[in-house]
Amino acid sequence: MSSVLGIVHMFPTLMGTYGDGGNVAVLRDRALRRGIGVEVVTLGPDDAVPTHGDLYVVGGGEDHGQVAAARRIRAHGALSAAVDAGATVFAVCAGLQVIGESFEVEGGAVEPGAGILDVVTRRRHPRAVGEVLADPIAPLGVPRLTGYENHGGGTLLGRDAAPLATVVAGIGNGAGGPGGDGTEGAVAGRILGTYLHGPVLARNPALADQLLTWAVGCDLAPLDAPFVEELRAEREAYLRLRLLGWGPRSS
Ligand code: GLN
Repeated sequence: MSSVLGIVHMFPTLMGTYGDGGNVAVLRDRALRRGIGVEVVTLGPDDAVPTHGDLYVVGGGEDHGQVAAARRIRAHGALSAAVDAGATVFAVCAGLQVIGESFEVEGGAVEPGAGILDVVTRRRHPRAVGEVLADPIAPLGVPRLTGYENHGGGTLLGRDAAPLATVVAGIGNGAGGPGGDGTEGAVAGRILGTYLHGPVLARNPALADQLLTWAVGCDLAPLDAPFVEELRAEREAYLRLRLLGWGPRSS
């Protein structure tokens, strides 16, 4: 990393559902509060992907937006070049699908992905919709993840990707049938994908810090996140009630 952390916000007008742009705001804020300078480059639909970023952030999106984004990301291989140079990549939902080998959209068309993560995505039925809890798998030192999912993709991990977490409630990656295979997200080196919206980094600041640690290349001083523990506890309590059949049902 140079003296300023370069965050590339990938095509948020094509991909950025459920407030996923908030992930960039959280990363920026948690870096600045530690005295790390930040430059955020937000890519418009016609902008080329730069190769010099430290941390690339991709949000979720509708099928048509993610196909358009995938074509732009593949165009010059800049994201692969950045990864080869040591960049960190964080991708949510459609973003996870897009950085993989290929993904299938509604109607059955299969689109090549950016090919930087060893996952393939095919359609799953029914869609996975609702709150998720998932326990990160070691060596990631991140506590239980909380988030929200809404996707029609089932993502199968290949040999070169490890699951990010084990599903406690919800579907997660969703491969292998209606209940999914019990895994959530994928990690390979400094590339991390998840199905969780939220924005997930607002709900899981430890995950934001993990990404920042990779991107800046050193450990970071602890930082508080006011109200987040309350929010996390409320979301987990809501799910416990739902699992026991007492709580209100979401659609
Ligand atoms: N369009 C993708 C799907 O339905 C991703 C959706 C999303 O990013 N929320 O699977």
